[in-house]
Amino acid sequence: MLIPARMSEAEERRWVSVMLDKLAAQENKRILGDSELAERAERLSAQYFEGRARPVSVRWVTNQNTRWGSCTPAEGSIRLSHRLQGMPEYVVDYVLVHELAHLLVPGHGPRFWRLLDAYPRTERARGYLEGVVAADRLPHLPAARGE
Ligand SMILES: [Zn+2]
Repeated sequence: MLIPARMSEAEERRWVSVMLDKLAAQENKRILGDSELAERAERLSAQYFEGRARPVSVRWVTNQNTRWGSCTPAEGSIRLSHRLQGMPEYVVDYVLVHELAHLLVPGHGPRFWRLLDAYPRTERARGYLEGVVAADRLPHLPAARGE
């Protein structure tokens, strides 16, 4: 980041925070609708699971504040917390991939995480979400993985 010369420390701090807000706003401008979310899930399933994960419905929900995503394999339904809206695409994709994987493997055993290894940004996305949770000072870090 380029910082103009001759700034006082306070000015510099303000400048940095303005630039960070601008960057965040750029990341935030794209919010997918429910139908786009379903298309995205289909693409991710094709890309990482050879299309084997076939959700019946994929949608945003606003009543899910302690989990990023959830899935009911019997119904083939996937729900994503609206709190993910505005987060970077790779983070939303990670949660989708995570829930898609649950259509194939329930629980969080070694087989599940091996499936998730197919998605190259799993660790980075989990780190991002853990950071969000830590920033919120919520007491339930493990929920950052979704269910
Ligand atoms: Zn899970």
